[in-house]
Amino acid sequence: MTKEEYVLAEEQMRKRAAKGYFVRDLEKDRVYCPTGEILRRKAVKKSGEVRYANKMACKQCEYREKCTRSPWKEVDFPDKVKEARNLNWLKAEEEAAKAKK
Ligand code: SF4
Repeated sequence: MTKEEYVLAEEQMRKRAAKGYFVRDLEKDRVYCPTGEILRRKAVKKSGEVRYANKMACKQCEYREKCTRSPWKEVDFPDKVKEARNLNWLKAEEEAAKAKK
């Protein structure tokens, strides 16, 4: 992938994440969260799942309550899986949409 192609792909991953997902970039081995922060590989679990987190970003995040009940978010990805739903985030969006009606 050329640099330009990667920049476009990264933009698409960030846009997808902004809709309430954790999007994994397998090439760079990192994960974009809904606010565009980058979660980095922290561990590989016995199950083989890879754990990503960014403690500092989460501690300063103004949307943390929408994202997680923990002080920071940890996301585990099975091998080759590229996307995980942020259930708390999607639920909060759904409730906000209902409240507008
Ligand atoms: S709490 Fe962390 S993972 Fe969640 S949106 Fe904020 S920076 Fe991203």
